Amino acid sequence: MANILQLDEFLSNKIAAGEVVERPASVVKELVENAIDANSSNVRIDIEEGGLSSIRILDDGDGIEEDDLETAFYRHATSKIKYDQDLFRIKTLGFRGEALPSIASVSKLSLKTSTGGREGHELYLEGGHIKHRKTVSPRKGTEITVTELFYNTPARLKYLKTIHTELGHISDVVNRMALSHPEISFVLTHNRKTMLQTTGNGDLPRVIASIYGSTIAKKMVKIETETMDFKVEGYLAKPEVTRSNRSYMSTVLNGRYVKNYPLLRAIQEGYHTLLPIGKFPLVVLHITLNPILIDVNVHPSKLEVRISKEHALQELITSTIRDVFKRIQLIPEGPAKM
Ligand code: ADP
Ligand code: MG
Repeated sequence: MANILQLDEFLSNKIAAGEVVERPASVVKELVENAIDANSSNVRIDIEEGGLSSIRILDDGDGIEEDDLETAFYRHATSKIKYDQDLFRIKTLGFRGEALPSIASVSKLSLKTSTGGREGHELYLEGGHIKHRKTVSPRKGTEITVTELFYNTPARLKYLKTIHTELGHISDVVNRMALSHPEISFVLTHNRKTMLQTTGNGDLPRVIASIYGSTIAKKMVKIETETMDFKVEGYLAKPEVTRSNRSYMSTVLNGRYVKNYPLLRAIQEGYHTLLPIGKFPLVVLHITLNPILIDVNVHPSKLEVRISKEHALQELITSTIRDVFKRIQLIPEGPAKM
């Protein structure tokens, strides 16, 4: 008698959710990534009780076609890649087709969407099971509301921290998205109170000011450099601004916020002896490179990536930062000589 069974879709989604949906902030990350991939200009995130009672993401992106509504909740169903080789030239933030089925399997989820036609559509699911589907008024874009996260996974629910801690993780996620995409306006509210609002006018220093304050933003120096393979641009805080951990060094690769230790080391090397031992700089770097040079398929959260030609990129970052500070020190302050 055979003992091995193929798990049904609901159970396998719940297992995947264990990896993809760790806490409310992971839901926010996945849904905001979807909004960005859908070419949105405005993304609004409304949170209640640290995301434990409700998370709502509203975008003005492309919307989902009526015929795709249910498919979007199938595991490994995506509109972002089609062929083997697509995996090696990922231009979108998502591609695994796991977020919607995973999130839906551990919550009560409403999706309202319209591609801008005459109708909008709503799908409502509980624990991944479709409960109802109806026509709603059209508004181009998508609105996803996730309530009672982990209601059917009590152990995970118990593991969640206080509202304050969960909100902190959500803020981190949204801040990173805003730093990565100054061309998109983000609004984050918690219990109706505005926590972050960016203009979406493409002005990175303004986003930096909204997140770190205008005093810090005024102490940032612009860098910009380009080689055959890489374009590096962004802002470096002057060495007088120091932080006691690495989380103030933001590196964004082709619009994706990543955690990559070699890149952080390259930044620190650039500051060299300008920073006291044990202190770290505040930096926002946007790096553009051919997608073929990045492997994003390392971990489900896609926060980690592998970079080909990593050494060349490290050297470029280090030398550019060194040059900038050398130049600043060479130019004496005060009125310019004619
Ligand atoms: P992935 O992002 O990896 O493709 P998801 O499960 O996150 O997988 O989403 C499945 C599909 O649903 C996406 O490929 C996309 O076509 C569609 N989708 C999800 N969210 C949105 C959104 N906010 N706007 C438009 N389409 C969306
Ligand atoms: Mg996605």
